[in-house]
Amino acid sequence: MNRIQELDTLVANQIAAGEVVERPASVVKELVENSIDAGATQIDIDIEQGGVRLIRVRDNGSGIHSEDLSLALRRHATSKIRSSQDLESTLTLGFRGEALASVSSVSRLSLCSAIKQTSGWQLTTEGDRVSALAPAAHPQGTTVEVRDLFFNTPARRKFLRTEKTEFDHIDELIKRMALAAFSVGFTLKHNQRMIRQYAPVKEIARATERLSALCGPAFVEQALYIESEAAGMQLFGWIASPNFSRGQADQQYFYVNGRIVRDKLLVHALKKAYHDVLYRDRYPAYVLFLDIPPMQIDVNVHPTKHEVRFRESRLVHDFIFNSVHDALASDHKEHAACVNEAAIAPLQAPIQEIMHGAACTIQHAERVLAAPKKQINFPEDRAAFKQALNAKIESYQRSVPRVQEQLAVYQNLHEPLPKTDVQPTVPPLGYALCQLKGIYILSEDKEGLVLVDMHAAHERVLYEKMKEALTQQKMPIQILLVPVTLQVSEREADLVEKESLFFKELGFCIERMSKEVLVIREVPQLLASGSIEQLIRDTLADLLTHGRSQRAEESINHLLSTLACRHAVHAKRQLTLPEMNALLREMEKTDHSGQCNHGRPTVMRLSLQELDKLFMRGR
Ligand code: ADP
Ligand code: MG
Repeated sequence: MNRIQELDTLVANQIAAGEVVERPASVVKELVENSIDAGATQIDIDIEQGGVRLIRVRDNGSGIHSEDLSLALRRHATSKIRSSQDLESTLTLGFRGEALASVSSVSRLSLCSAIKQTSGWQLTTEGDRVSALAPAAHPQGTTVEVRDLFFNTPARRKFLRTEKTEFDHIDELIKRMALAAFSVGFTLKHNQRMIRQYAPVKEIARATERLSALCGPAFVEQALYIESEAAGMQLFGWIASPNFSRGQADQQYFYVNGRIVRDKLLVHALKKAYHDVLYRDRYPAYVLFLDIPPMQIDVNVHPTKHEVRFRESRLVHDFIFNSVHDALASDHKEHAACVNEAAIAPLQAPIQEIMHGAACTIQHAERVLAAPKKQINFPEDRAAFKQALNAKIESYQRSVPRVQEQLAVYQNLHEPLPKTDVQPTVPPLGYALCQLKGIYILSEDKEGLVLVDMHAAHERVLYEKMKEALTQQKMPIQILLVPVTLQVSEREADLVEKESLFFKELGFCIERMSKEVLVIREVPQLLASGSIEQLIRDTLADLLTHGRSQRAEESINHLLSTLACRHAVHAKRQLTLPEMNALLREMEKTDHSGQCNHGRPTVMRLSLQELDKLFMRGR
């Protein structure tokens, strides 16, 4: 048995390097993080032979004091924290004081730095030998050169991939880091060729060039920029429209306090937010930044800090879920609201008039009342407005002789309003023109042509309605004039008994007559139009396969979505124009109506401009 000995520094550092320095890209990550921590506004990165031959990172940050240069290379030496309390408030990317020590133990490293213009000092290392401090010309800032990575650890060197693969890792890393550090300029060269060049930008929302480098121009084009704030946390960034969903989770970037992290909690919150609008095996795309008070997280979970621990994970989860879910839900409505804004504007004046006792046409007032609440800033609540309006109508009736006279006044009030060149209201999804092949509704809106997938749209409308009714516990029911008897398996009948409360909530009244016979007395009104027998069989089948005990919410939604799909109007059914218009109006009122329950789009638009382009008009 060997006796215990303390490891020498070089070996200890090389072991530590095993954790943080996996490949050239990990070195680049540590060096660039140091530059960002030093407050650099410009960072230039030179790579040769995929980083194996050379990695050079040069910045214009604070620089390192000449007396501290050799300390910077020592393990557990850092300027970023002093005590363990500091760990709780640190906002710097580094704080472990290990990176330079680790990197220098597996490469030939040179560190050159100046805290004032052209008064630099330099150190070089090889293995455990550190050179004497020598003066070197350097503008304010720091340059770290790492040569011959893993020259003294052949085992590690064997794991390196081709030059191209290693450089691709570096390139990907820089894309990710540059987006978070949007106010810093970056250049990246490989074998003296300029590969990336980013000018600094002032606001993250404008960092679209960097965003495009990371996620591609198609993502940028359709992504929604969101911002929200609660409980000292801020969430901002881009979320892809569900139509842009992906076959794998390859475009999911989440930053916590500027640090890219992979975290199950965060992924779950996002997955849940997209749950209703994505097909089951599709993945959402997003680039999101969470800023959270450092007290609320523990970043010291993993040496490369890819993971974080949240002190109040539920709160964080729900904040992210709500922010993204609401943004997705209002996306479609927002579009509706903006189309309607112009049409709503003339309604503001009459509201004021009614509330403050002036005259106004009744039709006008009624139109105001009928308008969706979200679109109007009511001076007080709607009830007060309604009361005022009723009082108004009553007083009209009492003063019949004066009505003619008043009408003239209303007319006058009414007249000037439309002159603010406001078009008559065209609903966001327009008015139906016809049905195409029994599948699509063609409709005309202000911009041009709207195409609606009838079945998919109806399915979504039904689904959202049922969900809403279920959460409000107000599922409208239909009592069947003739109860339906149904032959089922014993297992199914047991299930009906076991879940009787759940069936009741859904709007079913089902009784068990005998071992294998059920009687259905009431069904949810929304589904009453189809075959009742089929409806029950579907529900039972779904409950049997998906269960309900765990993941209750998800399985209920799955059930509702199946039911909605089965009961939505089927392709090939001929609809009348009023039926089509009714569906369009329902869609406008429905959350997420831009996608069916499986995440396929329900609406496409072709503006006149686009049509003109197709026909090369006006060229
Ligand atoms: P950490 O970043 O965890 O503190 P490092 O080993 O990466 O540990 O760096 C050690 C110290 O060297 C840092 O705390 C910092 O003071 C200094 N340093 C490293 N790189 C730079 C740089 N580019 N500019 C200024 N100071 C730097
Ligand atoms: Mg560091």
